[in-house]
Amino acid sequence: MLFGRNHKSPITLADKGVVEWKYATCGYCSTGCSIEVGLNAAGKAVASRGVADADVNRGKLCLKGLAEHQIFAAPGRGTQPLMRTHWHDAWQPTDWNAATAKLHDEFRRIQAKYGRDSVAVISTGQLLTEEFYTLGKLTRGLIGTNNYDGNTTLCMASAVSGYKRSFGSDGPPGSYEDFSHTDCLIAWGSNLPEQHPIIYYRLKDAQEQRRFPLIVVDPRVTMLAQMADIHLPLTPGTDVVLQNAMMHVILKEGLEDKRYIEANCNGIEELRAEVAKWDPATASRICGIDEETIRVVARLFAKAPAAMQIWTMGINQSTHGSDGVVGINNLALITGNVGKPGGTPLSITGQCNAMGTREWSSCAGLPNHRLLENAQHRQEMGEFWNVDPEFFPKQLGLKQTDIFKVMETGKIKGLWIIATNPMSSLPDTARVRKAMEQLEFCCVQDCYQDTECNQYAHLYLPAGTWAEKHGVMTNTERRVNLVTPVATPPGEAQPDLWIFNRVAEKFNEGGRVKFPENAADIFLEMRELSKGRLCDITGMDHDLIHKHRGVQWPYTAEQAARGEAPATGGVRLYTEDATFRFPDGRAKLIPLPFTVNYEGPDEQYPFWLNTGRLVEHWHTRTKTGKVGNNNKFSPIPFVEMNPDTAAELGIRRGEYIRLVSRRSDAVVMAQLTQRVRRNMVFLPFHFHDCANRLTIALLDPYSRQPAFKQSGVRIEKIANQHEAAMLSMEMRQF
Ligand code: SF4
Repeated sequence: MLFGRNHKSPITLADKGVVEWKYATCGYCSTGCSIEVGLNAAGKAVASRGVADADVNRGKLCLKGLAEHQIFAAPGRGTQPLMRTHWHDAWQPTDWNAATAKLHDEFRRIQAKYGRDSVAVISTGQLLTEEFYTLGKLTRGLIGTNNYDGNTTLCMASAVSGYKRSFGSDGPPGSYEDFSHTDCLIAWGSNLPEQHPIIYYRLKDAQEQRRFPLIVVDPRVTMLAQMADIHLPLTPGTDVVLQNAMMHVILKEGLEDKRYIEANCNGIEELRAEVAKWDPATASRICGIDEETIRVVARLFAKAPAAMQIWTMGINQSTHGSDGVVGINNLALITGNVGKPGGTPLSITGQCNAMGTREWSSCAGLPNHRLLENAQHRQEMGEFWNVDPEFFPKQLGLKQTDIFKVMETGKIKGLWIIATNPMSSLPDTARVRKAMEQLEFCCVQDCYQDTECNQYAHLYLPAGTWAEKHGVMTNTERRVNLVTPVATPPGEAQPDLWIFNRVAEKFNEGGRVKFPENAADIFLEMRELSKGRLCDITGMDHDLIHKHRGVQWPYTAEQAARGEAPATGGVRLYTEDATFRFPDGRAKLIPLPFTVNYEGPDEQYPFWLNTGRLVEHWHTRTKTGKVGNNNKFSPIPFVEMNPDTAAELGIRRGEYIRLVSRRSDAVVMAQLTQRVRRNMVFLPFHFHDCANRLTIALLDPYSRQPAFKQSGVRIEKIANQHEAAMLSMEMRQF
């Protein structure tokens, strides 16, 4: 047989017997790739492929998307509602009527005894938007607890909070298309090749064509940092210091966009006074970036005709998360880089429909960015839903991270968890376990029966997953895209929308609030509510969204009537002067004083613990831990550790070590790499009983997002490697 470049064998794809391809949007990350699932003659999902004419992914999928059809038949799916008296009893099968009655009766019993807010509802970024909207109507309009939130608080809450503080509303201003127009890009704490691989392809493609500088700010030499023109390995938690120093240089050297500031911003003098304190020499001592590099980066950014900033969890998951986002917005505003092609801040969202929950779930108040604090909004929604406006709370209740802390005090006694797994995903899981143990009633609604949270449930509701359902999701760039049903839920499992509607029937005395059964009808209801709002979707419906492989909001009925192409509908926000969402239409420049309010290394715990995601896995591995290649490529927890540190501690590559924090410990395999500096370790967060045993539950004061990436640990050698291997193996069991 001949080998070599002139004798390559053509790639042959195995014939999987696909007879039909069905359309969906990927259910993992927020990139929002259009995907087709191939069904064989027996109707079984056997393949996945990217959709070539979808603008987002242009035919590509990453490792997770390519194997996504396998999740339908993965082990651990729930097939029947289950009930038990105590969480340590054996499960008893039940039917849907009894199960939904149980949820109603237990919630109402607890509310009658302890008050309305003694029950909590925690949802996710994984549902479809019509499901979020229905759950919000049920929780805000009928159940009546104010302790209602989503796991998006672990992910994007700081971005939401920062947008609101700077621009007056949530809503990412830019698009992927901006990569093709920018002249300079700063990525703050964002590792696109691993976290959002297809967005990375878009960025790389644009960069290869236009050669703009890529500047990556990250304490770790991530994959993106390895491809950067400039890498700033700053000290964890000090992004605000670097941002202030960059603004110091820009304002001192007169590089700001004076016309833009004059026309669009309030607060320039207050900002100028604060950043005057942050000369690069002073900042350098705190953030660890040398002063000349700070000047170079500030000038590159400010002098670029169009400059873009993206960010992910490196900014958001910090005690300075919200401030970090405001700092990014400040930099964008003073250089006039908002609302113009290639000139924008753009938060890269986490979960597939984290944006949908932000827009429509009512977790942050009322639908479509309406606020509980606003009497007019309460009135509007009360009339629309046929709910007494006085029934709505006048202030937002607790976020997920605070709900669990209040559960510890015994003030919250009932909990409904939907498609999320806080036993693994919240920081300091020992405290979460204690809080769960003392609940009087817990209902878990999930497509998988084997989640860690379900161990503490009294009621389990088996749900459909991803493309067993019908509805829309919104991606990072505000693109609303469609999921069509590809498979049916196993056994007696039902789509989440169906379950919410059955639960609503129990709470909806007299049927006074309407709950449509069909996702397309619910979309039309949401559409009506969106008229005139920033997130205006009045020009869209399911058919249009499907036809165009997603449409960005805003896309209004007027735009549709004028015949404007949906592709141009909502590429950017804030494109005109004075269109920000404060009453005077102007954005706020907000001074950001810096204080050290996080846990860093000290004598007892001398290493930074940094946590993050791997390309193979998704969140707590409830899905990817059961999908062949995802799990095979990354089967066990490991810790990245600097080789010099390992040598000092006498640790060899592949040995098991014990990481110890003030909370607990975890046993993991050491992987030696220069990606992390000598006083830092990096631990993937996916594995149960691992990273979040160690992390601290400190929260950002504005967003209440945890500082997952800032805690201190020490490293201990383990003499008995066999025993350690067994311990570590246990961690990957569900
Ligand atoms: Fe799915 Fe994200 Fe991968 Fe696209 S990049 S296929 S949306 S996981």
